[in-house]
Amino acid sequence: MDAVSTKARMDYVSLYIGGEFVLAEQGTEPAITPIDGSVIGSAPVGTPSEARKALDAAHASFEAGLWADADRRVRSGKMQTLLDMVLARKDEIVRLMMLEMGYTRMECEGQLQLGTDQMAKFVEVSAADPMKTLPLVSTPWHDGTIKLGGAVTSRDPIGTVVAITPYNAGFLLGLMKLGPALAAGNSVVLKPAPYTPLQTLLLMDMVAQLDLPPGVVNMVTGGADVGEALCSDPRVDMISFTGSDKVGGSIMASAAPHITKCHLELGGKSAMIVRRDADLAKALPGILFSNFAQAGQGCACTTRILVDNAIRADLVAALGEAMKHWKVGDPFEQGVVTGPLIRNVARERAEMFVERAQAEGATLVAGGKRPEGLDERLAGGFYFEPTIFDGVSNDSYLGQNEVFGPIMSIIGFDSDDEAVAIANKSDFGLGGSIVSADAGKAMQMALKVRTGSIAINGGSGRLHPDTPFGGYKRSGLGREWGEEGYNEYTQIKAITFPVG
Ligand code: NAD
Repeated sequence: MDAVSTKARMDYVSLYIGGEFVLAEQGTEPAITPIDGSVIGSAPVGTPSEARKALDAAHASFEAGLWADADRRVRSGKMQTLLDMVLARKDEIVRLMMLEMGYTRMECEGQLQLGTDQMAKFVEVSAADPMKTLPLVSTPWHDGTIKLGGAVTSRDPIGTVVAITPYNAGFLLGLMKLGPALAAGNSVVLKPAPYTPLQTLLLMDMVAQLDLPPGVVNMVTGGADVGEALCSDPRVDMISFTGSDKVGGSIMASAAPHITKCHLELGGKSAMIVRRDADLAKALPGILFSNFAQAGQGCACTTRILVDNAIRADLVAALGEAMKHWKVGDPFEQGVVTGPLIRNVARERAEMFVERAQAEGATLVAGGKRPEGLDERLAGGFYFEPTIFDGVSNDSYLGQNEVFGPIMSIIGFDSDDEAVAIANKSDFGLGGSIVSADAGKAMQMALKVRTGSIAINGGSGRLHPDTPFGGYKRSGLGREWGEEGYNEYTQIKAITFPVG
């Protein structure tokens, strides 16, 4: 099936500022698919001056209380309409995600499901009373009487929010940042990543139909210069950023002079601990998919497989065997499990990691190169074989750095304590998992691993919408998803009063 050549182009020319589509001053650039490198449409190129115009609109709308002071039932109704539109256009969205990111249908449907589940949660939160009453307290007063006091807390919007997303989840994260920001009554400027802007432009088509007050949602495209213009502006009250730890650090520096709140969802080098009592046959699909899903371009991929040395050889043999049947190629094709990397630079980065791992003494079990024998029409795509290294030192370059490509590191251990120590010996702390027949032991270990989330034996399946998501250490600040995620986009105010 020639999925790429039969697609319809998507051409966008405008940014979305102050409730209107505005022609981009610098025109457009081609949007390409990593599947074969062909052009699938075009996207506007935003500039720092347009970013400031978007902030003018967002800031003015917030100051005027256009959205923040609206009846919360109206706000929640608009958000429900957005969710309904997304669900109604699911097939179109998934197809664009597949084309723009090169992921399989299952991967894109999974991302979209997560986004719509979360949006449903934010619709619910936006309708709820933002005030909570605290119990009355009595205080002995200086004049010998007793003073009875009451207090309420109110969740107020934080103000003007800048939301910046990475290339690997444009639609999902656009929705997941707009959801809590709008539920709390904020105004937003959204900026997608330059590799995958079309998904966010499609989302803006839907937002534009909501008839929101002008300036409540704005969108500018562009790269680091546009991001910097947004993050260094004193009118911004909060930056919600998802991306690499390196850029997260620069954003904190841009935000520091104005004490702007930074909510950062960054990278990871998460560990999966496979205990001696694990059922390997059962664990195998989880080990493979948690590394090679989205061609390894997932923040919480468990790219360090820590395995008890007693079963390590068996696991390595089983993984090597499984890779013989692993199909890499056009994600639109039946049976393909891994698509391309996003661009050639990402593939070259994976190649650099392979070279360094070999130089540092790791053993190549599978992959390690560009796939041979792919259909000729995919010659312009950025494919790289899912790669497994055994005998990786946790202290090595591969053991410590995020590849953001399909490279798995196998690291041996001899005791549970050693496994936890290795898992924690990382600058990151995003996700992780434990595979064991002993649920109690696994729970005890999970409590000691320093990461924002950890799954035991594959976790709960479909994620609970209240599960908070975020990282320790260099993996970020704050939490996304559910009520914890919503709270990040609010400020809490205490109002106290005497009773009687
Ligand atoms: P990136 O950090 O290169 O870019 C992310 C966004 O930041 C893009 O929109 C980019 O244009 C913008 N940007 C770049 N420089 C900037 C600056 N100086 N100021 C403001 N904005 C700037 O990340 P990427 O390559 O698009 O995505 C991959 C990274 O994202 C990985 O590290 C991955 O782990 C991380 N990620 C984290 C999560 C999470 O939830 N923790 C989710 C997805 C991806």
